[in-house]
Amino acid sequence: MKLHCEVEVVSRLLPALGLRNRGKGSRAVLSLCQQTPTSHPHPACLLISTLKDKRGTRYELKENIEQLFTKFVDEGKATVRLKKPPVDICLSKANSSSLKGFLSAVRLVHRGSDVDAPLSTLTSVKPSEFEKFKTKMVITSKKDYPLSKNFPYSLEHLQTSYCGLVRVDMRMLCLKNLRKLDLSHNHIKKLPATIGDLIHLQELNLNDNHLESFSVALCHSTLQKSLRCLDLSKNKIKALPVQFCQLRELTDIKLDDNELIRLPFKIGQLTNLRFLSAARNKLPFLPSEFKHLSLEYLDLFGNRFEQPEVLPIIMLQVPLTLLEYSARTVLNSRIPYGSHIIPFHLCEDLDTAKTCVCGRFCLSSFIQGTTTMNLHSVAHTVVLVDNMGSTEVPIISYFCSLDCYVNSSVMLK
Ligand SMILES: [Zn+2]
Repeated sequence: MKLHCEVEVVSRLLPALGLRNRGKGSRAVLSLCQQTPTSHPHPACLLISTLKDKRGTRYELKENIEQLFTKFVDEGKATVRLKKPPVDICLSKANSSSLKGFLSAVRLVHRGSDVDAPLSTLTSVKPSEFEKFKTKMVITSKKDYPLSKNFPYSLEHLQTSYCGLVRVDMRMLCLKNLRKLDLSHNHIKKLPATIGDLIHLQELNLNDNHLESFSVALCHSTLQKSLRCLDLSKNKIKALPVQFCQLRELTDIKLDDNELIRLPFKIGQLTNLRFLSAARNKLPFLPSEFKHLSLEYLDLFGNRFEQPEVLPIIMLQVPLTLLEYSARTVLNSRIPYGSHIIPFHLCEDLDTAKTCVCGRFCLSSFIQGTTTMNLHSVAHTVVLVDNMGSTEVPIISYFCSLDCYVNSSVMLK
């Protein structure tokens, strides 16, 4: 019985000697081994082999476990505390289901019971076993794409480009250590929501595919905490969902060469964003929240920015409807809502409510005005908007009341 993971053996005597452990594990193969075939009774032992120590170090297990720490076993981590020698064997980056199986066998050996699984012999581990520890794999042609073999579980960086993929390979979604996934230059039409289960994913490259949307489910996933760089350029996306702005860790977004007719109007919430390019789309204007961004680089070249409307569009209803009143109250008082409390379509309405220049919200009763903004006010480096050398773009603003509109009319002129 074997387990592949990272191991760090920490002596509990170190702190007493004023020393500290390295805090970093090494790739290792753990095996439950038969001590010697002739000894009787023959309790199994634990053998930890690494690339530097292929013969491995042996640890007794029978009645020798002081404690098992398994709180993070679902993240592939656990610690085995031995009595003799006084060490903590810290396991990490393991496949969680293999780890669970291995730990229950370890428990059995500790109690002196028989283990169901076959035990290994005390032999050194072949170097090829350590290949399973690869952290990076780059595939750039169809013929190199693994069909019969699985991807190594330890992968942190996987690139499969020019492989003609029409969907995301489910085997990739089991690679829980992935930080960087590059699926550029394929024919992917749709992203599975389970990409959001890759809890460490920081970079996702989908450049040059056939995507038509980016799903709300992904915006609500753990990507909110991990995703920093997203490349969706050269796809067929017409609009991003408003929930997209909940991916708050994003620093780099590439949206060039799509069919975008608008940017998510809550884009100002992406406070970590530093690099944004959405060149060669169909944007007629920008949302007013765009003013809150603080970028290093911005490229909006080749869009269809329209001349600002001189006259505002007035959608004010006086008096306000009951729906408008309640929606404004819920949003302005930050009362939590969800589809478990109110109908789903109302949630959507609330999610897409407009923000007035005064900071308050409005649903369907508002005045809409267009102004222009110089892109240099939000970014250090700006690629010119058109061949005329302009960096001025129209932005759309909403006003919740006539007062707000009149007070801001100076700005509008
Ligand atoms: Zn207002």
